[in-house]
Amino acid sequence: SFRYALKGFIDYPERYTHDVIFYDSDVVIVRDKFPKSQGHLLVMPRDSDITDLDPTLIDNKIKSKLQPAIDRALDVIYKEFHERYGLKESSRKKPFLTNAEYENKQYFIDNFTQVGIHGAPSMNNLHVHIMTRDFKSPSLKNKKHFNSFTTEFFVNWVKLPLNQKPDETFLEKIVIKQTEMKCVYCGQNFKNRFSELKLHLDREFTMRFENRN
Ligand code: 5GP
Ligand code: ZN
Repeated sequence: SFRYALKGFIDYPERYTHDVIFYDSDVVIVRDKFPKSQGHLLVMPRDSDITDLDPTLIDNKIKSKLQPAIDRALDVIYKEFHERYGLKESSRKKPFLTNAEYENKQYFIDNFTQVGIHGAPSMNNLHVHIMTRDFKSPSLKNKKHFNSFTTEFFVNWVKLPLNQKPDETFLEKIVIKQTEMKCVYCGQNFKNRFSELKLHLDREFTMRFENRN
């Protein structure tokens, strides 16, 4: 079924030269086919015991095992974003990244990327999302897409291991459906108006990163 669409990457990473950007015997780093931001990668452990585990059950041992691949994925995301969008000298709207902050890899990673898992994943084969926080992408098409990465539906890597498994019904029926959508840059509340939010996010992005010299 579609739930296993990611399985091939860990079984035969060498076959996916276009999508797989790194692999070794432990992990695969793959491009998300429907990226929800400019940078969106998945880190997948290849171990058959870990791949079938619910990601909300990730423990410290698994975290340590995946950490080098996550750091590598963040590195790729930083580099690709900076190759695509250079420095813009003026008119950067506050509060956001100054040029010095933008160039500083650790600052950029801490303030403009996120790493985590979905509390109620749609796909099997354990995967960790590593992405920029621009939410500018043609594949970001609805409220669920946006809220699944901007609410507690997205369990941040630093929050793992969890003491308690999140309630999937609560996440899907309440958190995704009832959380009002706010711009990630300026906080403006678009409530349920997804298409307005999307236009706004694109404008915010252009203002900050495009047409740079
Ligand atoms: P989940 O909600 O399960 O954490 O996220 C699954 C992710 O897999 C989504 O971000 C989705 O865009 C991505 N995805 C779905 N199907 C495919 C596929 O066939 N190939 C790749 N590379 N990514 C996929
Ligand atoms: Zn805004």
